[in-house]
Amino acid sequence: NITIQKIAAGEVIERPLSIVKELIENSLDANSENITIEIKNGGKSYIRVTDDGDGIEDEDLNLAFKRHSTSKLSTIEDLYRIRSLGFRGEALASISHVSKVEVMTKTSNAIGGIHAIVEEGEIKSKEVIGCPKGTTLIVKDLFYNLPVRKEFLKSDLVESNQISDIVYKVALGNLNTSFKFIRDDKVVLKTSKNNDMKTHIYSILGKEFSSNLTQINFEEYGIHLHGYISNNNLYRSNRNHQYIYINGRYINNINISNTIENHYKSLIPLNRFPCFILFIELDPSTIDVNIHPTKQEIKFANQSEIFSVIDKAVKDTLYPSLS
Ligand code: ADP
Ligand code: MG
Repeated sequence: NITIQKIAAGEVIERPLSIVKELIENSLDANSENITIEIKNGGKSYIRVTDDGDGIEDEDLNLAFKRHSTSKLSTIEDLYRIRSLGFRGEALASISHVSKVEVMTKTSNAIGGIHAIVEEGEIKSKEVIGCPKGTTLIVKDLFYNLPVRKEFLKSDLVESNQISDIVYKVALGNLNTSFKFIRDDKVVLKTSKNNDMKTHIYSILGKEFSSNLTQINFEEYGIHLHGYISNNNLYRSNRNHQYIYINGRYINNINISNTIENHYKSLIPLNRFPCFILFIELDPSTIDVNIHPTKQEIKFANQSEIFSVIDKAVKDTLYPSLS
């Protein structure tokens, strides 16, 4: 039933940003080293993500656009050991129900690549083409079939800015992948892979953020925290420069932010929202990332343990003499 599929799709695909995020996550899951993201008109008319990853086998291509089909989970227990970013098997299906999708893909052992047009979860046409290893997804005319949803999109500028934000966040969290971001025919971000963390931060967030960083490196109960806290006494009116990654996945977590902010209150009273980049590596079976379709929220099996480790790590970093 097409109507039901469209409504269900809307839960994952709210706006162009959701598409970009899902496509980049797929590219990362496919072991890509280079990812190019291109958008036009805030992603409303055009989104392209090109990677040099594993590619999709011909016989898997039909399935890739079917709901709840994923190559990333084989048993339900796998759901609790998730390391890969995607796992719900919904993104490509949902995207193909709300926009016009084109895919070009080639695996390393295939002789030729495949170019396919997809509509409403079905492959409409497929031909063999010459192309390099990897996958390109082109998504055009978002919500062409859902005019009311289209009405609710913000201006091109606002949608573009939201996409930029997520591209920067993902690029920041992935040191081993190079990213290129093209916004309305202009290259606005280009990162190189395998830099050290500080160079990487500098290349993405610029001089202001990177000039006064203190390194965090702390491990307890099998939870490893690393990253940087900025000591810049810059007043920030929001949390836009707080970057938290769990097992490589960018997340929002107000409790983690608060834990770090509390230490700053006494140090720099004006700086309500300190800037930081925090990587948390832990046993994936202790977190549940499946609570929300967009996967930006996370549940911890042991809340108190994780917050106590973060608290200690920040204390240890800010006041090393006390520990
Ligand atoms: P999920 O990522 O949750 O598995 P998706 O709908 O995002 O679901 O993708 C469906 C499947 O299509 C993936 O499991 C993967 O096998 C394949 N796929 C999607 N994008 C890519 C890509 N860029 N490179 C290789 N395979 C991909
Ligand atoms: Mg996915």
